[in-house]
Amino acid sequence: MSSPRAADRPRRRRAARLAVGALVAAATAVVALPAAPAQAAAAKVVYLTFDDGPSPRYTPQVLTLLSQYGVRATFFEIGQNVAANPEVTRQVGAQGHSVQNHSWSHPDLRKVSKAAFQDQVTATDARIRAQTGTTPTCLRPPYGGVNGTVRSAAAGLGKSIQLWSVDPQDWARPGRAAIERRVLDAVKPGSVVLLHDGGGDRSQTVAALPAVLRTLKSRGYTFALLPCR
Ligand SMILES: [Zn+2]
Repeated sequence: MSSPRAADRPRRRRAARLAVGALVAAATAVVALPAAPAQAAAAKVVYLTFDDGPSPRYTPQVLTLLSQYGVRATFFEIGQNVAANPEVTRQVGAQGHSVQNHSWSHPDLRKVSKAAFQDQVTATDARIRAQTGTTPTCLRPPYGGVNGTVRSAAAGLGKSIQLWSVDPQDWARPGRAAIERRVLDAVKPGSVVLLHDGGGDRSQTVAALPAVLRTLKSRGYTFALLPCR
């Protein structure tokens, strides 16, 4: 950028000082309000979520990295994978992460009967509860497939629906660098990041995690569990 003409500089600096003053006044006003939504929105919190596990191969690698960086995450697990790898689900819960419901067999819940919806959710609840001692209160419908019927059926089972706001499409295996860049370019305070620890070869997701965790921490982010329990 070219530098402004010398004569402009003092005026610009004064304008900058006035702008900073206005910002400080605005910030002070926000702080004075109890529980202002603007404060929550500005908190540098990010919610990492991992879908489609547990995987006996990739979930333990994810757990090791999260532990190294002291980060907790929310895992949306598939009931039939929990049934096949119960000890992995147990580990996820034991390490302080949140294990939530991603259906039994990953159908589009908009296209199943009400009875099948109930079975998909309650059978998964039971398997997760058996390993973690906690019944999921959040449901992430496969493919983010949500409509009014899914919402009311979920509410009828006491579930809140949790989607995401940052999707690096790691499941399509675009490469470690692309996953890192897509996450780091998109994250802002309050972001819910969708990643996958199951459902296929997740080595790129695992490889991207250290840079994602390190960089977000260096930007001042803290990591929180979704409000599911
Ligand atoms: Zn999924």
